Amino acid sequence: MGRKPLRRSSHTAVPRLHDGNRRAEDRPTAAQRGYGSRWQKAREGFIAKHPFCCDCEAAGVLTPTEDIDHDPPVTGPKDPGFWDRSRWFPRCHSCHSRKTRTQDMDRGRCSAGRS
Ligand SMILES: [Zn+2]
Repeated sequence: MGRKPLRRSSHTAVPRLHDGNRRAEDRPTAAQRGYGSRWQKAREGFIAKHPFCCDCEAAGVLTPTEDIDHDPPVTGPKDPGFWDRSRWFPRCHSCHSRKTRTQDMDRGRCSAGRS
């Protein structure tokens, strides 16, 4: 008999998805970006073989590799080219972000690092 319908307050509590208070810590790990452990392993192996940023090396400076850059760029781990190592280039952060910003103009100086 007459169950009372659960009355909710008029403004429904929808959890808000906002990243507003997510602190920009150092940078997201590869796993956080969805690349997963397979990428971690592949990346480590690649960096072990190519320890220096190829752009810096082309300019005569040895800077430790910090990122693997895809060139031509890929959309992410689901892109078939993602695992194609002929598209991988070892780069430091600054070269990587510089190249990402100027993707169309600068195809990267290096063909170094290929084995
Ligand atoms: Zn560099």
